[in-house]
Amino acid sequence: MAAEPEPSTSKGVTEIRQLSIIIKWAGNEYPLTELTDQDTVAVLRHEIFKLTQVRPERQKLINLRYKGKVAPDDTKLCVLDLKHNFKLMMVGSTEAAIESAMQLPDDIAEVIDDFDVAEEEDLVEKSPVYLAKVQRRVREYKITEINPPREGKRLLVLDIDYTLFDHRSPAENASELMRPYLHEFLESCYKYYDIVIWSATGMRWIEEKMKLLGVSNNPNYKIMFYLDSTAMISVYTIERGVLDVKPLGLIWGQYPQYSSKNTVMLDDIQRNFLMNPRSGIRVRPFRQAHISRHTDKELLKLTKYLIDLARYCDDFDTVNHRKWQHYDPRKRRTQ
Ligand code: MG
Repeated sequence: MAAEPEPSTSKGVTEIRQLSIIIKWAGNEYPLTELTDQDTVAVLRHEIFKLTQVRPERQKLINLRYKGKVAPDDTKLCVLDLKHNFKLMMVGSTEAAIESAMQLPDDIAEVIDDFDVAEEEDLVEKSPVYLAKVQRRVREYKITEINPPREGKRLLVLDIDYTLFDHRSPAENASELMRPYLHEFLESCYKYYDIVIWSATGMRWIEEKMKLLGVSNNPNYKIMFYLDSTAMISVYTIERGVLDVKPLGLIWGQYPQYSSKNTVMLDDIQRNFLMNPRSGIRVRPFRQAHISRHTDKELLKLTKYLIDLARYCDDFDTVNHRKWQHYDPRKRRTQ
């Protein structure tokens, strides 16, 4: 018999209970331990999708009822009074529709990234539900350190796709799709920052790409570790539904020498910063490598910014990265 879930109490008034649900689908059982009772049905569906690849809108959750009807997506799980290891019967297919859906995430991301995220950022960042999820990641996600952290260095967290690399254009070899100045950028930043790569893909893919790009074995800098999609957490926002985001708290929880005071994160998708909006620098996506690699200077400009930041700013919380292109270290306190 599995043990009863441990109740946990957040700093806020809401008491958060970890949920354990077993999804029964196509003759198999899939345990789901990611959720708390403060999550919604929409988040549950998203987690089921991650487990089964059955898209949320295709999932028929047979015995998830609220007031005699199918529980709506915005229903919090706490009101459904689910027993520990509740068996949830699901019907749904993965077939051709799912295959085509696999092409979608990037395109969707482009569209939703145009929203102004400021208001939602605050809600998500401070939510005890998501902080509890991050705590769980801190406890359970095993970081495989490639190189140890160095004394007194800041922390730079980098996305791969469209930030360092155009993963969509066809090419004979990876270097054609590499963002210009990548190695110079990493080498310069390495003097001041420990470097982490975080991509919303699988670990094998990340390792392979870093090898092909000549990052993993470069003699002039070292990567501390890689994080993959399983280090991300799902959050629900009213405006944009369920999203996977990259919570820096996962790293800060395991490496207390880093915090918002000395960490920056680069990504072409702003929503990835939802848990840490003030630590994110949104970079212009690097696409159509064959054309843009002759003109793209984003990494060159970012090198200057990140070095200025490391040299002149001892508390990154005092800087608004949204204005990074106009950063002047002498005026940093007034930004
Ligand atoms: Mg990206």
